[in-house]
Amino acid sequence: MTAGDVVVQMERLNQEVQTCTRCELHCNTTHGVPGEGPYDAAIMLVGEGPGRNEDKQGRPFVGAAGRFLEELLAVAGLTRKEVYITNVVKHRPPDNRDPQPQELAACRPYLERQIELIRPRVIVTLGRHSLGTFCPGTMISKVHGQVHEQSGRHLFHLYHPAAALHQERLRQTLLEDMSKLTDFLRQEPQELEHDHAGRADLEGEPPEQLSLL
Ligand code: URA
Repeated sequence: MTAGDVVVQMERLNQEVQTCTRCELHCNTTHGVPGEGPYDAAIMLVGEGPGRNEDKQGRPFVGAAGRFLEELLAVAGLTRKEVYITNVVKHRPPDNRDPQPQELAACRPYLERQIELIRPRVIVTLGRHSLGTFCPGTMISKVHGQVHEQSGRHLFHLYHPAAALHQERLRQTLLEDMSKLTDFLRQEPQELEHDHAGRADLEGEPPEQLSLL
């Protein structure tokens, strides 16, 4: 698939999310929040679902949790413009309740298509709902800060940044875990080049130009 095909497919997906009625979550929301970032990002972050601010703006992680996420990315020498950020559900659950199994299942095809198109080097799960989507039944307390391989994908697990806003201990854990991601990224640079071979024309494009958001 060419870089141009990826752009077309991703923009189609973004539109589909905006008009999605596969579950009840779209009711009483302002925007679908497909995600944002470069379509050739090496790192994809997958959170839980949009909150109030994200629903208003149609962008992921724009509130307090997003600010802490940016701090975490800085630990790995990254900015949010360099990573693709999305969620396991693309519409805001009412009152920020947990997403229900049927909502997670309805939204899963979007996430799978995003992963197939972006082909990130590592998928960072944020919080237990994201972890549960990839690794059902796994406890976050057992796997946070670890990379593991699943069906040819590298997954790295973090606590949800929002959980750290009220718990100083978790904040420290998240900062320490993030430095382990840095170690992993340093280890295997050749794989990154391989993964994105033939898609160099996407590199350096600011996300605004590639996204419909
Ligand atoms: N929390 C999430 O999981 N996702 C967002 O986009 C914002 C807050």
